[in-house]
Amino acid sequence: MSYPRFQGSFTQQEPIPEAAIVAALAVLRSGRLHRYNLAAGEAGEVALLERDYAAWQGSRYCLAVTSAGQAIQIALRAAGVGPGDAVLTNGFTLAPVPGAIHAVGARPVLVEIDENLRIDMADLAAKAAASGAKTLLLSHMRGHLCDMGRLMAVASDAGLQVIEDCAHTMGARWNGTRSGNFGVAACFSTQTYKHLNSGEGGLLTSDDGDLIARATILSGSYMFYDRHGAGPAAAAYGRARHEMPNTSARMDNLRAAVLRPQLAIIESRIQAWNGRHDAVARELAASGRIVLPERPRGEEMVGSSIQFRLPGLDGQVCKDLVAAAAARGVELKWFGAPEPHGFSSSHRSWRYVPSQDLPATDAVLAQLFDMRLPLTFSTDDCTRIGAIIRDVAQQVAP
Ligand SMILES: *Cc1c(COP(=O)(O)O)cnc(C)c1O
Repeated sequence: MSYPRFQGSFTQQEPIPEAAIVAALAVLRSGRLHRYNLAAGEAGEVALLERDYAAWQGSRYCLAVTSAGQAIQIALRAAGVGPGDAVLTNGFTLAPVPGAIHAVGARPVLVEIDENLRIDMADLAAKAAASGAKTLLLSHMRGHLCDMGRLMAVASDAGLQVIEDCAHTMGARWNGTRSGNFGVAACFSTQTYKHLNSGEGGLLTSDDGDLIARATILSGSYMFYDRHGAGPAAAAYGRARHEMPNTSARMDNLRAAVLRPQLAIIESRIQAWNGRHDAVARELAASGRIVLPERPRGEEMVGSSIQFRLPGLDGQVCKDLVAAAAARGVELKWFGAPEPHGFSSSHRSWRYVPSQDLPATDAVLAQLFDMRLPLTFSTDDCTRIGAIIRDVAQQVAP
């Protein structure tokens, strides 16, 4: 069966829930948008978001900031990373990750990924030893969690502290433990294309009160840390208050007001994403040639996007596939392109990072396709999209 051109928009998210609009209007009417601008007895939306998020995540502390990229920079500094330090990270991740390492004056050391898009543990151990790095910024890119038990053992053997980039794994779990609760700190995004939508925004969680105290001062707290919703006791700030610079990255009450009602319904959204992901995956798997990354047993994912490979295709055929899918209304990203497009870039386009040889990662990316699954698509839409991709793959590479 041949489906007609797909008409949906791959960048159109759901509207903001009515309860969030009402909460946002209340903040606007109050005029108190700055997080520390509170009426007598008022907690403030940002502090309440920090409290709600820490409770949902199961972390002791939470700090709300302007973006995940800022959360990562702050987490790195608060964890003691400084100029010249080597920081290990995945060779396949989004540009703000190496960007954050560079912004704190540190040096990204890129680790290979495997064909399931997860970090290569052998390469990690080898590069930890060779670089002398003390920190791994682990990016759960596109939501593919590695074996977190093994990862933490490899990190511990290599003397690495782990900071998790959970921009694509808010709500995911490994063997029942939420992604973000393995390392010393975790960073989440509330940018429009992630799992909560406030336009821009970030959350930093940790169980380490000293780390969060340093992070809070770094975020620009002007010593109002007693107005935070999920921070440590005042004593934790003793040294941080004089030693940490103010890097001004606070979240405001308007964004927090928009986020809290979304957090209240995130579990049902995760189910909706997974239903859509599975509908596409079923169609792709039926092709016999399209390879989906393995989803290991310990993983509880959030299927807000889908990735697949077509082994054996050369660059021209990959480009033809993207064009043929686009002609039928399906927006695919291809990670093998020499120049960065939109949100897809590869390590070769981060020229501020000393160039590194990643043959395994390059071989995977050369055949890797990626697609967003906004919740404005129905499950039937997703079945149709999967069938179109299957058709198009057959057409460009019979
Ligand atoms: C989006 C994203 C980030 C950064 O998030 P922002 O909130 O946009 O700064 C970091 N890592 C990954 C993997 C991302 O997809």
